[in-house]
Amino acid sequence: MNDQLERLNRLPLRENLRGLQPYGAPQLDVPVLLNVNENTHGLPQEVRSAIASRVEQAVGGLNRYPDREFTELREALATYLGHGLEAENIWAANGSNEVLQQILQAFGGPGRRLLSFPPTYSMYPLLASGTDTEYVPVRRGADFNLGAEQAAKAVRDTGANIVVLCSPNNPTGTALGLDVVEAVYEAGEAKGAIVIVDEAYAEFAHTGTPSALTLLPGRERLIISRTMSKAFALAGARVGYLAAAPQIADALRLVRLPYHLSAVTQATALAALEHAEALLANVEDIKAQRDRIVTELTAMGLQPAASDSNFVFFGGLKDPHGVWQGLLEAGVLIRDVGIPGHLRVTAGTEAETTAFLDGLRKLL
Ligand SMILES: *Cc1c(COP(=O)(O)O)cnc(C)c1O
Repeated sequence: MNDQLERLNRLPLRENLRGLQPYGAPQLDVPVLLNVNENTHGLPQEVRSAIASRVEQAVGGLNRYPDREFTELREALATYLGHGLEAENIWAANGSNEVLQQILQAFGGPGRRLLSFPPTYSMYPLLASGTDTEYVPVRRGADFNLGAEQAAKAVRDTGANIVVLCSPNNPTGTALGLDVVEAVYEAGEAKGAIVIVDEAYAEFAHTGTPSALTLLPGRERLIISRTMSKAFALAGARVGYLAAAPQIADALRLVRLPYHLSAVTQATALAALEHAEALLANVEDIKAQRDRIVTELTAMGLQPAASDSNFVFFGGLKDPHGVWQGLLEAGVLIRDVGIPGHLRVTAGTEAETTAFLDGLRKLL
């Protein structure tokens, strides 16, 4: 046992946290960072200026607590999402990770179960253990797809209280059909299960891919989670949000910390939303690089999964860890998600994507 673990074990830690590893994607100083699906395009100058000026205004009032209800931000997010949503349908927090944590604080906890379908986002089990919620993983088949019947059966068999569907799924990149969401919601009826669709990458989906936002009317236990970390290039600002029935936001008001969204955060998000058009123009560029990666990996004889996100999950590698290491030595950091034969890469700028493809070609 190493020293760090031994020191930790002396503490009266909660039993269900013993032996766990914290979230730890490497943060290395490498020229080309394509490992955590950040938006690789910096903020356009007009957006930087708009944020700086909004933040400067907010600074004048920093002696006071911020608007606890962040009403202006909820209005702007509702307008951005459309689908007839209003401020009362929106909730936000410091990243969608905090939104998910608040959902588990309100609806999970001891004696309750969170179901998801790995390989999927690695934070779901950690958010479950942090809130003392039991995590029940039901693994996808060899092709990593998830069908409506299979998912609904898992909901019934596990008696889950909360189900998270990640669409487009991280790390595989593929969006789910809405039939899966409908079937899971229906299967959860008996238990009154909360169904979360994590749409962190929705803006990168191929044109015509429907959002689960269209399913909200009449489904009060359905929650669509979104983030400004990816398409809006604001990972550093920490803003995530959800759309749901107004009573879901009321439930989260019971567990949020007072004034959890700082005035600086609210100002930053508002300025970015006012310039959504300029930011989403970069999304088109990233989608083009994503499609280029899929085409070129296929030409190299690898097997990239269909991607509706800003990253590509690819198989057909004999020694994924060796390839990961070789790329790192060439100054390109991608992600080893621990799935045999596979790696994941974020679509970068044109130059970054070229560095990745050239590096990979040399290693194969
Ligand atoms: C990146 C990501 C998020 C975003 O998390 P934030 O806390 O909003 O930065 C959420 N869900 C998935 C599946 C992700 O990959």
